[in-house]
Amino acid sequence: MLREALAAAPSLAGAGGAGGDHAVRAAHPKEIILESLKLPPRLLNCPPLAPLDVFARGFAKVASAVSANSASAPPPLSITPGRGGSVQGVVLANGEELRARTVVVNADPFKLQTLITGAHADAAWSTRVESYRKDGTTMKVNLALNGLPKFTCLPEDRGQYGPTIHLLPDEADVMRSLRTSYDDVCAGKLPEFPTIEWYIHTTVDPSLKDPQGRHNSALFVQWVPHTLAGTTWEAQKDRYVKHLLGICDRFAPGTSALVDDVFALTPPDIERHFGITRGHIHHVDNGFGFDDRLPIATPVGGVYSCSAGTHPAGSVIGCAGHNAAKRVLHDLGLSRA
Ligand SMILES: Cc1cc2nc3c(=O)[nH]c(=O)nc-3n(C[C@H](O)[C@H](O)[C@H](O)COP(=O)(O)OP(=O)(O)OC[C@H]3O[C@@H](n4cnc5c(N)ncnc54)[C@H](O)[C@@H]3O)c2cc1C
Repeated sequence: MLREALAAAPSLAGAGGAGGDHAVRAAHPKEIILESLKLPPRLLNCPPLAPLDVFARGFAKVASAVSANSASAPPPLSITPGRGGSVQGVVLANGEELRARTVVVNADPFKLQTLITGAHADAAWSTRVESYRKDGTTMKVNLALNGLPKFTCLPEDRGQYGPTIHLLPDEADVMRSLRTSYDDVCAGKLPEFPTIEWYIHTTVDPSLKDPQGRHNSALFVQWVPHTLAGTTWEAQKDRYVKHLLGICDRFAPGTSALVDDVFALTPPDIERHFGITRGHIHHVDNGFGFDDRLPIATPVGGVYSCSAGTHPAGSVIGCAGHNAAKRVLHDLGLSRA
């Protein structure tokens, strides 16, 4: 599909990127821009987000296979209007203008909104986009572990390290605890026992280990407030990370002692680090499901959103991009019957 899109479109410029330390830019006649995702060079020598990097590199490989040009580019500042409400191209932060008759944007819808200005602005579309604005409530605690945790309930390795490990209170208490945690987050408080998904990526892909053989692991914490009431993330982050590791210790005693390095991302950190509005990892909250998500087409002819905020949802599934590509091909009259 991508191959067809690139081969067929006289000029296809994409803003934003799913990951990778490189950016790709199109020159005539086939154009692509992948904006760099600022991967953190932390967590010792582990490549913490290597799987996403692999996607971006794969994408660049496919693009070059169809002779698309690629280059680094500063982020687009605006989408330039053309004649009759259609796009003419994008203006980059360095003032350079790239001409394109199709622009596909995977920056979140609120960022996209800032790119569509002046004569292109559309009040009804903007009002709709605004009504989707919600805070991110996910915290990611990336960990380098010098060994595997030993779970009290399953000390021997019976394959439990590969799938997602879910930490929850005892069954009798779980629903009450979830409600309390949810209410705490709504009130701007850090929950005592949030739901935690625990990954140990290196048990699935040992190539992610650093030279010392350390494991790349992460706690995916749902939910935390974006903004804390009466205090700040700066004041609470380290303490809360210790608290979360303490929860791990309850299930697998000694986990805290396995931690050689931590790279924790609160919702504001996610906003700063990845450039995602309000740090919402799915751009648009998953409370807006399926056809409730934002449309692929924008008020500007030739400008499309392929962001996680469109149908069907976020996550590393590529569906929003697939759907946007199909829509572009259709509008260019290039769909297969
Ligand atoms: C910390 C974290 C952990 C996650 N974990 C998982 C997981 O375990 N499993 C899963 O399936 N999903 C996970 N997700 C969600 C998943 O990564 C997203 O749903 C998915 O990346 C969305 O893809 P996207 O291309 O729509 O947007 P993104 O990957 O968010 O890319 C948008 C890009 O646009 C860029 N951008 C913003 N403004 C501009 C501009 N003006 N010009 C150019 N570029 C701009 C941003 O910097 C960003 O790189 C996670 C997300 C985060 C942040």
